Amino acid sequence: MPPIPGIGNRKVIGSEELHRRLKSYMRFFGPKAIARLTKIWMPVGKRVVIIGGALQGCQLAEFLVKRGRKVTIVDTAGRLGEGLISDDPERLFRWFGTKGVVMLPEVRYEEITDKGLVITAGDGKKQTLEADTIIVALPLLPDESLVKSLKGKAPEVYQIGDAANPAYMPDAIADGCRIARAI
Ligand SMILES: Cc1cc2nc3c(=O)[nH]c(=O)nc-3n(C[C@H](O)[C@H](O)[C@H](O)COP(=O)(O)OP(=O)(O)OC[C@H]3O[C@@H](n4cnc5c(N)ncnc54)[C@H](O)[C@@H]3O)c2cc1C
Repeated sequence: MPPIPGIGNRKVIGSEELHRRLKSYMRFFGPKAIARLTKIWMPVGKRVVIIGGALQGCQLAEFLVKRGRKVTIVDTAGRLGEGLISDDPERLFRWFGTKGVVMLPEVRYEEITDKGLVITAGDGKKQTLEADTIIVALPLLPDESLVKSLKGKAPEVYQIGDAANPAYMPDAIADGCRIARAI
């Protein structure tokens, strides 16, 4: 979670919390039913601000737009779409444009209030992005607790895949292949 004053506001949902909430429904209904049911109801307000405009935030924005939400994506980076492949950003951003998605790169997060997210935009102007829900969809960080607890307990311990550097399936498979061959 980014250290923004007010991040504990009840409007804010972190990716871990979002995952936890969805997981129990997913186990019960399955992904196809969830895709349909979330078109009828979701515990997410009408106006949503997504903090994080890389792959995770963009995928989430697409999901929410298809469920009738008014979405604003913000990021501190100079451009959005980090992690999307080849010509995807161009096509996706054109589609976002037709759906009224507001995309704000290069912002500074000031605080979260009961009204929404206060930012300083790239042009230096301070503004409040009014929101019913603010979702943090930043790239993940590795959880190193298991690998740390194993160090010294076995002759060789390797840290691979998302546990080393959260990325994508091909990266995790390549890591596994590389280490398995080395062993
Ligand atoms: C929401 C989301 C969407 C994604 N979408 C894509 C995508 O479209 N394309 C893509 O290429 N990648 C995608 N990724 C990334 C991809 O899922 C990961 O990069 C990949 O799964 C990493 O593989 P891994 O084997 O390192 O870790 P994982 O797949 O996370 O496997 C680790 C396993 O270890 C288990 N485990 C953890 N701790 C313990 C323990 N103490 N004891 C026993 N077992 C334990 C976990 O339960 C898990 O099953 C996505 C990731 C997320 C979170």
